[in-house]
Amino acid sequence: MRVEVDFDLCQGHAECQAEAPDWFTVGKGSEAKVRAKRGVVPDDQLEAVKAAVKYCPTQALRLVENQTHQE
Ligand code: SF4
Repeated sequence: MRVEVDFDLCQGHAECQAEAPDWFTVGKGSEAKVRAKRGVVPDDQLEAVKAAVKYCPTQALRLVENQTHQE
């Protein structure tokens, strides 16, 4: 699974960072948008990332299946 971020929806609440600090970083002030790691979420991060997706108050995060093609 990979994470997709809708930056129009993200309001920098940082719930995602609280749930999965290894995957999400959120700035402060006008930079308060999430930065998510790219690429496939490893198994040991998946539960934390799923929680982040679930608890994002604006539903800005989405888990998507891995693409079958190579990038
Ligand atoms: S919890 Fe949602 S709104 Fe808040 S910083 Fe993360 S992605 Fe953005």
